[in-house]
Amino acid sequence: MASIAVVGGGVVGISCALALQADGHEVTVIEPGPIGEGASWASCGCIAVGEIVPLSQPGMLMKVPGWLLRPQAPLTLRPASALRVLPWFLRFAANARQSRMRAIAEDLARLTFAATEDFKAQIADIGRPELLVERPVIKLFEDAQDRALMAAALDLARDLGCRIEDVTGAEAHEIDPAIASDFHSAALLRDWSFVTDPVLLVSELHNAFRNRGGQVVSGAAVEFDRKGQMISTVRLSDGRVCEADEFVIAAGIHSRRLSDRLGVPLKIEGVIGYSTALRDCNVDLGHTVFYAKGGFGMTPYEDALAVAGTIEFASSDAKPNWKRADILVDHARRVLPGLRTDRAERRMGRRPLTPDTRPIIGRSKRLPNVTFATGHGQLGLTLAATTARLVAGEFAGRATNIDLSPFSPDRF
Ligand SMILES: Cc1cc2nc3c(=O)[nH]c(=O)nc-3n(C[C@H](O)[C@H](O)[C@H](O)COP(=O)(O)OP(=O)(O)OC[C@H]3O[C@@H](n4cnc5c(N)ncnc54)[C@H](O)[C@@H]3O)c2cc1C
Repeated sequence: MASIAVVGGGVVGISCALALQADGHEVTVIEPGPIGEGASWASCGCIAVGEIVPLSQPGMLMKVPGWLLRPQAPLTLRPASALRVLPWFLRFAANARQSRMRAIAEDLARLTFAATEDFKAQIADIGRPELLVERPVIKLFEDAQDRALMAAALDLARDLGCRIEDVTGAEAHEIDPAIASDFHSAALLRDWSFVTDPVLLVSELHNAFRNRGGQVVSGAAVEFDRKGQMISTVRLSDGRVCEADEFVIAAGIHSRRLSDRLGVPLKIEGVIGYSTALRDCNVDLGHTVFYAKGGFGMTPYEDALAVAGTIEFASSDAKPNWKRADILVDHARRVLPGLRTDRAERRMGRRPLTPDTRPIIGRSKRLPNVTFATGHGQLGLTLAATTARLVAGEFAGRATNIDLSPFSPDRF
């Protein structure tokens, strides 16, 4: 058995740590904290099984001028960051072809179709099965044009095996009476489900890891030392060092800087999203609801209603534009009549996104004792348990039914 240092204790890192610990390895997690406040604390909480159609879609380059001009649109590119993001963005746009879109969706489907079972096994293992609510997600369309804009993505997802049912707006209201009754139509995404509290999930995974003897070192990794081809130690910002036989890089968007230090540059950008937690909101929503036109979703967490979404391409040091979070809350009132929004807490998260929307899972040929588990974009919560199973499987030489080559860190 090996000593393994997992760098990053967000949902992906701590899931990997638990799976490796279960195989008998001696695992240390390096995490600056606060626990659970990586990208997942701003998330919409979905186990998004059908979220397989990449963000890069045909015709994307044509839309960029509009994004630059409309800073409050659901999808935007900050003008001040445009030059810095450009090299990544051109790679991203190069995937916006029909054939690439299908190939990426097929690869993502192989992962997401395993996600629910892996997630259920994980939360059963830590004794918190109630953290998952298995109810379909409802995607609402304002009018026929709104529905038509989503048609290609929905058809592709259906074609690849996702269970999607068309209903009228009135039927959506019957399924969840909190939703306004006058929507044109909706899609019921039958394979999806949601987590009642992503921050609690990450902290419960940490508790289980610690209770089983795992060590969490509070600190930020900044550098690595080598012995020949192998990495021997990770250095922390306060000068401490942590030795291990093996290293797992799972620091979300911060994996980019760490991978540069390791000489395996990963192409990850932090795609900003916002979430507002509304407490005492006067609405009893039972499902996750997506408002297609607004580009956001609403999930009834245990202690608050989360209104989360938007896609903002901006450099990693860009400050939050809270107006974007406030616009989502305004739109949420359209979806949920009577919604009260006076007790609101705003959050921002950076989704670690690769140009081909595929996560990065597995070893690099250039560094025999380093494994990457990052770049999950809009699917980190969904795929954390599956990623952990695959990473532990690779360490153990266990066969899995998922080919990891499309997710290799060496593909960039
Ligand atoms: C608005 C929004 C909605 C979303 N909705 C969903 C959804 O419905 N479903 C879904 O599946 N996903 C969703 N996501 C995406 C999901 O939140 C991310 O993919 C996921 O959180 C990534 O997990 P991670 O562990 O890789 O990164 P993070 O959660 O960011 O964790 C990285 C960890 O690394 C730590 N770290 C940073 N630097 C260092 C360092 N130098 N050394 C050591 N550790 C370090 C951080 O403190 C952090 O804890 C959403 C994201 C946003 C922003």
